[in-house]
Amino acid sequence: MPLVLHNTLTRRKEAFRPLDPNRVRLYVCGPTVYNLAHIGNARPFIVFDLLFRLLRRLYGEAHVVYARNITDVDDKIIDAARSRGETILNLTERTTIVFHEDMAAVNNLPPTLEPRATEHIGQMVAMIEVLIAKGHAYEAEGHVLFAVESMPDYGKLSGRPLDDMIAGARIEVAPYKRQPGDFVLWKPSTEAQPGWDSPWGRGRPGWHIECSAMSEAHLGEHFDIHGGGLDLIFPHHENELAQSVCAHGGRPFVNVWMHNAFLDMEGEKMSKSLGNIRTVHELLDEAPGEALRYAMLTAHYRDPMDWTGERVRQAKTALDRFYVALRATAGIEPIFPVTPAVLPALEDDLNTPLAQSVLHELVTTLNKAETTQEKAEAKGALLASGRLMGLLEQDPEAWLRWRPKADQGFSDAEVEALIAARRAARASKDFAEADRLRKQLTEAGIILEDKPEATIWRRGGL
Ligand code: AMP
Ligand code: ZN
Repeated sequence: MPLVLHNTLTRRKEAFRPLDPNRVRLYVCGPTVYNLAHIGNARPFIVFDLLFRLLRRLYGEAHVVYARNITDVDDKIIDAARSRGETILNLTERTTIVFHEDMAAVNNLPPTLEPRATEHIGQMVAMIEVLIAKGHAYEAEGHVLFAVESMPDYGKLSGRPLDDMIAGARIEVAPYKRQPGDFVLWKPSTEAQPGWDSPWGRGRPGWHIECSAMSEAHLGEHFDIHGGGLDLIFPHHENELAQSVCAHGGRPFVNVWMHNAFLDMEGEKMSKSLGNIRTVHELLDEAPGEALRYAMLTAHYRDPMDWTGERVRQAKTALDRFYVALRATAGIEPIFPVTPAVLPALEDDLNTPLAQSVLHELVTTLNKAETTQEKAEAKGALLASGRLMGLLEQDPEAWLRWRPKADQGFSDAEVEALIAARRAARASKDFAEADRLRKQLTEAGIILEDKPEATIWRRGGL
């Protein structure tokens, strides 16, 4: 089956045909590094990591380039640094480090390229100069603005009349704008603000031009896929599209635009005023990163999803089932299939709920396998599908011993000691003591399994 992806531009699913199968190019708008990523921000990064893995499987690891930028110049960064009394560099570096830790914890691969906006100011200035020279941008009061009327099909991506979009996005009305929809390419900086010299004085870029310049620098004028969350369609992606197409003389920019739907928190929109924003960093204290990843993939990326504690608990339980089966076959060398069973589901516009039901079928097969050959095949089948989704690559023993940060229960060493004491009590036929010890462990959430050679254990659900 060929890969099929939903394209926001055409509003339908389309067979994916790369411009160059030897260099498939994906660009995803990365974080603005002024605060820690919340679980909603993690959604695009997990979804497009899955797409990156799928493209690598289909075209070969060396033939896919995934660029995910770091926005390290932005007014939100300036404001946050000032209110914390911290330098901008300190804030952006610190936030970027935690972002990388969080992404690794949810099993996202590092992107091929991670361009930083501050390292591409020259390219942004050059692109703005081209836009001015071609009559698509104008200078006004130290600002440079893109003239939306200069592009006849401006608004094509979001597909809404310009007036609606402007009203919806609460666009700033400024006296120096020719049209309310005109947007900033460059703006002046005060001495206290970060700034770079330019033909229009010392200033800094607008957000949209950053991605147009960085994608051109690393992926070229025309590339395959551009992704982000639904809220980026307008104005961010609409404006990126306008800038790039106009700078490139009307030539095409991106073939497939992909957008993930939003995530709510326990039935409500995440917002500062409700105080219900949960960062990836704090959720990692409560559940392993792989459970967060699995939970994220329980919904199709274009469906809105409600993030709940129950969803995370169910994800942990599902993964416990898989890792128990993998531990039970620890000594068996897996035989890998040519094609992972989840591939057709993922090729259908990343149908992750279907792929997860396939994983469940695969583990059922593994649990039923009798001969070593059957077990080796079933284990390989489960691992190959898990790997394609960024799952099931940990040591099963480590997974099954994971505990939340706030857990006050027995340490691993204490569990081992209690199990040894129980074994000693049984050996000396003190069955009352053995039962008491078992009960003590069970009540602490430790699940024991007596094998002929030893007692194995794991921690229960979240
Ligand atoms: P930002 O750092 O705010 O630019 O957001 C980074 C990414 O997260 C963008 O692709 C946003 O569209 C996406 N995003 C932000 N909030 C949510 C949410 N609640 N659900 C899903 N995606 C989101
Ligand atoms: Zn962007």
